[in-house]
Amino acid sequence: MARPVDPAIREALVERVRFYRDLGLTEFYRRPVAPALLSLLQAETSEPQTLGAPDLVQQGVEIRETNPQPASQEDHPIPPRKPFSAPPAIAAAVPAAERAAALQLIRDEIGDCTRCALHAGRNKLVFGDGDAAARLMFVGEGPGADEDAQGLPFVGRAGQLLNNMIAAMGLSREQVYIANVVKCRPPGNRTPEPEEGNTCSQFLFRQIDVVRPQVLVALGATAATYLLGARQPLAGLRGRVHAFRGTKLIITYHPAYLLRDPRQKKEAWADLQIAMHELGLKPPAKG
Ligand code: URA
Repeated sequence: MARPVDPAIREALVERVRFYRDLGLTEFYRRPVAPALLSLLQAETSEPQTLGAPDLVQQGVEIRETNPQPASQEDHPIPPRKPFSAPPAIAAAVPAAERAAALQLIRDEIGDCTRCALHAGRNKLVFGDGDAAARLMFVGEGPGADEDAQGLPFVGRAGQLLNNMIAAMGLSREQVYIANVVKCRPPGNRTPEPEEGNTCSQFLFRQIDVVRPQVLVALGATAATYLLGARQPLAGLRGRVHAFRGTKLIITYHPAYLLRDPRQKKEAWADLQIAMHELGLKPPAKG
């Protein structure tokens, strides 16, 4: 039996992995441990150490051996990745004046959702917020504790930063539309499981089709992954415009990541300036 790592070390590891995940780095390679080191560890602890791999997998991280050996499922408890669901066909445009009602129809259809496991820990379902006919829409990952309590997206610390980012673009929060990949809070704010993301993103696609923003901004790797239907490092996706369901998609860092590493705010601002250029916006005058 593997001995669990000290909780503080595990938490630090999970935090570090979250940081890498926000950068879009989701594949990690575990070096085989030298037999001499292993026996030393075993002598010290009487049992081998584990890095708490399930925790890391919950963060959307793939851990692979550098030298994979054929092994049984028991030796490798990390399940293979599920493929992404096909997005629904792009819906017909809804007249601007009818978009709020069209969104409400989607909300009604979601109802008191039990389609995936996330419903079990839900306090409030977080559908989306803002102008149903917005020119600019943001997509995040999923509700955190504050959002789950209030039923609104991005109302916690990350939301405060997102509000500032929106203001820096010369817009107010009421002028944009905000939604997430999943509408219920994943336990401990972990990354949504493929089952959860695939199920819930079907509704997100329909929200996007209704709002039909000129520009869609994906906040972080999870949003980018589910929108594009492919897991790719964020670094290769940022800094340019992607054609997406009839809108222009721009991918940038998640505000929670920017709170952890404020040095990247400059990069995020560069991405938002691309969005502003596409929208014909100029930054508000200072002072
Ligand atoms: N992070 C998200 O991705 N979405 C929210 O609504 C809040 C925090």
